[in-house]
Amino acid sequence: MTVVVVATNNAHKAEELRRVLAVAGLVAEVKGLADFPDYPEPAETERTFEGNALLKARAAAAVTGQIAVADDSGLEVEVLNRMPGVRSARWSGPEATDESNLNLLLAQLADVTEPDRVARFVCAMALVTPDGSEHLVRGVMEGHLIESPRGEYGFGYDPIFVAKGFSKTTAELAPEAKDAISHRGQAVRAIVPLLKEYLIG
Ligand code: IMP
Repeated sequence: MTVVVVATNNAHKAEELRRVLAVAGLVAEVKGLADFPDYPEPAETERTFEGNALLKARAAAAVTGQIAVADDSGLEVEVLNRMPGVRSARWSGPEATDESNLNLLLAQLADVTEPDRVARFVCAMALVTPDGSEHLVRGVMEGHLIESPRGEYGFGYDPIFVAKGFSKTTAELAPEAKDAISHRGQAVRAIVPLLKEYLIG
């Protein structure tokens, strides 16, 4: 069976791709980086989501010799010049947690009122084959940030993000409901037809 390596240590991302591939009727064995214990994970040194996604997928394809998929995602806040962006995971410093990042962002937006709390989640996803073919896709979920966290699902900035056309935060949506509209859900679904070419062809 063709192997697809999802270049992440996040078991949720590998699981998500497995789910979407199964729904699309694709037959592939999806491995995560946990299946390659000595994998030297590269630093995310690029300034764009696309750059980091490509860097991770290229490294994984080169080291494992398999088709590799990698993503990079984050939150862009319009009044912060689209920061935290690629720095979303470490916004409050090297010891950052989801909670410290969210609290810092809320403090930075303390004086900003609607309609200026516009934000979006972005996910770039790269597909790289061992012989050097490369593809990039992008998913975007537009919305705004509320002032007090709500909801228990999700992670990161979900408790303060409300997608356009919704009143619940993405942390109040069940995982499948978030997948249906999320930046990452969109990117995974866009990768499927590209993967299909390599798995079938
Ligand atoms: P990464 O793509 O796993 O490196 O995630 C980057 C960071 O962006 C995460 O640590 C979160 O802070 C934020 N982020 C990305 N996607 C989401 C999401 O779906 N919900 C909430 N936060 C997210």
